[in-house]
Amino acid sequence: MLKTQHELANEKEKLFSHLNALNEGIAFFSSDKSKILTNNHFIQYMNMISGELTISSSNFFRIPDFIPIVEFVDKMSNSEIKSSDLPKAEFQIGKNGKFFRVQCAVFNDKSFEIILSDITVAEKSRQIKQEMTSNIAHELKTPVSSVKGYIETLINEPAMEQEKQKYFLEKALAQTDKLTDLINDIVVINKIEEAGNSFSKEKINVKELFQEVKENFMSAIKARGMNVEVNVDDNIQVMCNRSLITSVFQNLLENSVNYAGNNTTATLELYTQDDKFCHFSFSDNGVGIPEEHLSRVFERFYRVDSGRSRKSGGTGLGLAIVKNAILLHKGDIQARNKNGGGIEFLFSLPK
Ligand code: ADP
Repeated sequence: MLKTQHELANEKEKLFSHLNALNEGIAFFSSDKSKILTNNHFIQYMNMISGELTISSSNFFRIPDFIPIVEFVDKMSNSEIKSSDLPKAEFQIGKNGKFFRVQCAVFNDKSFEIILSDITVAEKSRQIKQEMTSNIAHELKTPVSSVKGYIETLINEPAMEQEKQKYFLEKALAQTDKLTDLINDIVVINKIEEAGNSFSKEKINVKELFQEVKENFMSAIKARGMNVEVNVDDNIQVMCNRSLITSVFQNLLENSVNYAGNNTTATLELYTQDDKFCHFSFSDNGVGIPEEHLSRVFERFYRVDSGRSRKSGGTGLGLAIVKNAILLHKGDIQARNKNGGGIEFLFSLPK
């Protein structure tokens, strides 16, 4: 008997440590709602949901958020229960920016278990995905319907002068370029989100890469009479993914070219460095971004002035890509307006 008792105590100990190691909050109650067993997470999640501070799991039954469970358990206490088909209830609670799943199963002796799971991360990512999908649909609509409009006009007016036909075809082509930009940006942002850890990193010479990016924009830079400067020493290197950092520089520079205005100057500068990070400033002395928009410019599809941005071909994803790419490298980015006018982005990249 002693041996069995010892074994039982051992098993119980194992069960307790297993329950406490779980990410879920679990509680078992007898049919009269008295506690049999709970783990720490259960009490913690219960308090997070109720906003109270209790250490007693029996308080569960008087917290208004859990009324559906109480009603379910009461209803089941009068029903016959088959072990092969245990009655279960499940619902979600959103509280103070967090989301929880509440599950309950009643056993055939009318005792029951309640599981509380913190599903905030999964729920938020589901919401972001849902938002992203509807934003994408919305963003695709405008260029697709313009292309459709141009093609319909061309079909309906076969006698149109050649010059005019060419004009419509060029307009349609410009819209398909917009679509390509949008699709490319969506691919990059999805990749950062879903395959974040699989990006390979290498030592990158910052000045050289920035010069390469600048070369690609040279005709637009010249057309706007802009001046682009790099105040970074020749030997400065960062440990990053090449294509993502190319995207960062491309988007920042492209924005200055698109929005800063004619005859402005854009500058990339290394303003300090520590053991782990290089701290850069990218700025221009153009129109800047109104203060009330500053905190939102990194959001997906956020545009300060949708008319101005759409005309110049922006997808609204540029700065979201910049921020996500930098965060993926464990760096950080902030935007602020400069005293003399223009916008400045302060960001860090690992060495
Ligand atoms: P978009 O693809 O529309 O350029 P971004 O995410 O790159 O989207 O930028 C968001 C908004 O921030 C833009 O619509 C633009 O109004 C503003 N913005 C970005 N960079 C600059 C800049 N250098 N000067 C002024 N406004 C800018």
